[in-house]
Amino acid sequence: MQYLSTRGGISPISFTDSVMMGLAEDGGLLLPRTIPRIGCETLTSWNNLSYPELAFEIMSRFIDDIPSSDLKDIINRSYATFSSEEVTPIVHHGDLHILELFHGPTLAFKDIALQFLGNLFEYLLSKNNSILNIIGATSGDTGSAAIYGVRGKERLNIFILHPHHRISRVQEKQMTTVTDKNVFNIAIRGSFDDGQAIVKTLFSDIEFKNKYSLGAINSINWARILAQVVYYVHSCLHVIGHEKDCSLDFTVPTGNFGDIFAGFIAKKMLPAGTIRQLVLATNSNDILARFVNNGDYSLSDVKITSSPSMDIQAASNFERYLYYLVDNDSPRTKELMKEFAQTGTLDLTSYQEQVRRDFVSSSVSNEEISDTISRFYKEHDYILDPHTAVGVNVAEKLKTAGIPMVCLATAHPAKFSEVVEKAIGTQPPSSDVLAGILEAPSRCEIMDASSKDIRQYISRHALQKPTGD
Ligand SMILES: *Cc1c(COP(=O)(O)O)cnc(C)c1O
Repeated sequence: MQYLSTRGGISPISFTDSVMMGLAEDGGLLLPRTIPRIGCETLTSWNNLSYPELAFEIMSRFIDDIPSSDLKDIINRSYATFSSEEVTPIVHHGDLHILELFHGPTLAFKDIALQFLGNLFEYLLSKNNSILNIIGATSGDTGSAAIYGVRGKERLNIFILHPHHRISRVQEKQMTTVTDKNVFNIAIRGSFDDGQAIVKTLFSDIEFKNKYSLGAINSINWARILAQVVYYVHSCLHVIGHEKDCSLDFTVPTGNFGDIFAGFIAKKMLPAGTIRQLVLATNSNDILARFVNNGDYSLSDVKITSSPSMDIQAASNFERYLYYLVDNDSPRTKELMKEFAQTGTLDLTSYQEQVRRDFVSSSVSNEEISDTISRFYKEHDYILDPHTAVGVNVAEKLKTAGIPMVCLATAHPAKFSEVVEKAIGTQPPSSDVLAGILEAPSRCEIMDASSKDIRQYISRHALQKPTGD
């Protein structure tokens, strides 16, 4: 399988090159040249596979430059760290199916992709005798999932910037109590945006970037999307079971459009109608809901909500969907992205008909999030985290009678216990994963939000490229 850029500016590359490249060198995003189709018979034959076995069947259709036995091993190790044997179990409440994606080491769905990506990086670096220094800024969740993905791995150092005292105590501890020698937590005296600006500055310094072989972990890496396709197919098998001619809908709490884009790929792969509809749920950062409903893709200010991992305006994976929307026309994609970068707005009303065939959408206020957590707890004795509650609220509004609805549960409620406690009046039960974390020894460098200082710190602690070749 070859990979292309949405902007058409690179010659086709292999899967492993696409993983190492991350963002395409022409500024676009990488996509497989074609989406493999899965027939009904093949799908039925997957019914009894374990999660890792199913992951191998799906991923191997996109990966032809890693030997099967190696890919199987990478997949097995990636999902052995989950506390549920099913990896992504489904529970049933009322007429909703809740797909629990939070049984990984940091209790959020990002583990599913980042456990895999960490092992994949380690494997590829060892094969090529190279190293990687990963740098990222986090507002909370991504940082810890990335750190757990690469902790203790050879040939990889990770530097994560978070805003000092501006993330929850649990989120901070989840990162800083990882004291492996390849993990560097930096708390900056500033905001998340300051951290992100520093990371951008470092990446745009091409000499520095090449010297230290800097790598990114944000959600634009195709391998992350690929890993997420698996649980959509897994859910279809689970919900549909042996019934023929059955279809189902998914509701996805959305920020950067990574998770729902994986659903879009799954929909394209599976027999027509298996996934009938994708429901895109946003919090009050509703740019994507406005896009689906009115064709209006225009930035506004980021609002702080009780579902912070979705407090995003420009969704970094949107360009991938845009590319399909304009019928794989890369010059057009490039033009539109340029227009968006200049004006912060795109009028996509002329594509409305197609967009509405792909998605339906609605947005949810903080008050509705709280009400949904409270009501769901009363009615079903099940505790939703605020992100999952965004999805459940929209699923209830937009559900079609008679069609099974799967809601993606993207975080464990204990991760956001303050919001949950306010909604239901008691603390959600904690998770074994968090036991003792507040008292555990931690390591973190506190620094000014200065790209010069951070640059110096990184050069002192970065892995050096092997010499001699
Ligand atoms: C990252 C995240 C989301 C949003 O997922 P995207 O792929 O960015 O759309 C939703 N919920 C939680 C808990 C997250 O961490």
